[in-house]
Amino acid sequence: GTPLLEVKDLHVEFHTRDGVAKAVNGVNYSVAAGETLAVLGESGSGKSVTAQTIMGILDMPPGKIAQGQILFRGQDMLAMKEEERRQIRGQKIAMIFQDALSSLNPVMTVGAQLGEMFRVHRGASKKEAREKAIELMERVRIPAAKQRVGDYPHQFSGGMRQRIMIAMALSMEPDLIIADEPTTALDVTVQAQVMDLLAELQAEFNMGLILITHDLGVVADVADKIAVMYAGRIVETAPVRDLYANPAHPYTKGLLRSIPRLDQKGQELYAIKGLPPNLLKVPAGCAFNPRCDVATDLCRTEIPKLHQVTDKDGKELTGRRSACHLWKETLHG
Ligand code: SF4
Ligand code: MG
Repeated sequence: GTPLLEVKDLHVEFHTRDGVAKAVNGVNYSVAAGETLAVLGESGSGKSVTAQTIMGILDMPPGKIAQGQILFRGQDMLAMKEEERRQIRGQKIAMIFQDALSSLNPVMTVGAQLGEMFRVHRGASKKEAREKAIELMERVRIPAAKQRVGDYPHQFSGGMRQRIMIAMALSMEPDLIIADEPTTALDVTVQAQVMDLLAELQAEFNMGLILITHDLGVVADVADKIAVMYAGRIVETAPVRDLYANPAHPYTKGLLRSIPRLDQKGQELYAIKGLPPNLLKVPAGCAFNPRCDVATDLCRTEIPKLHQVTDKDGKELTGRRSACHLWKETLHG
């Protein structure tokens, strides 16, 4: 069927005094109902900018959508009337941010914030809205919801606040949730709990979920597929298991090696050398080449295409692409 959301050849630029930064440079991805796509990358990779473009919180100077389509159920949001677009963004797509404390209103009770949707859009009474708020809090398993519905955001722990953010997102019964680093500010145990909750609700309501993260460790159990971004481009896509088992891009390989593992306690953790490029000075050829251990001369001159990846017999591997001149060696070597 038609994917829920499809990003097609998206280009987003930032016009700065020092030049044009291509923050998103020809990105394609899609997510279906009931599916979880993880978009992975370091800061400056374009993963958040892509999401912000989908949500319409970026199309203003210095940001500019230079090219591309964002299809929601087959309809290009970028070509829609403003009113139509606002409806989709307000009700069909919900976003969860990293920092719940700054996304929630500090002087409004959590119950009032959760119930607001129902008051404004459904004409619910104060009492009905409060009941809805309690129901939502219970749905995201906040203990003693009835007692806590009148509490303020700062009275909750970080993990509980993030649950409240999830509840806010659910209040609209969206088709798609975009979560940008939803657990980054939390400690590891709480991270896993919040991630599990998100995955569970996503399955229960058959929503699409785009999970944006810099942390390959948190998405393994919840994502169906992954798109790895680097310097504004997608450099690898794969079903999540395949990517973990056998990456087809040196960057992904490096990211996997740098995940802390319990069985390697005490050993020094691998880190990819160097830093992601300044988007105003992206290296020629493959943008990753200065950090890549296997770069060749070709890598320094020619931008690699996003190749369809094949197995050793040349059979196409479903959903697998790599933007590396040496993807074969990386995958099969
Ligand atoms: Fe490394 Fe070259 Fe592949 Fe880029 S194209 S990741 S520099 S081997
Ligand atoms: Mg970000």
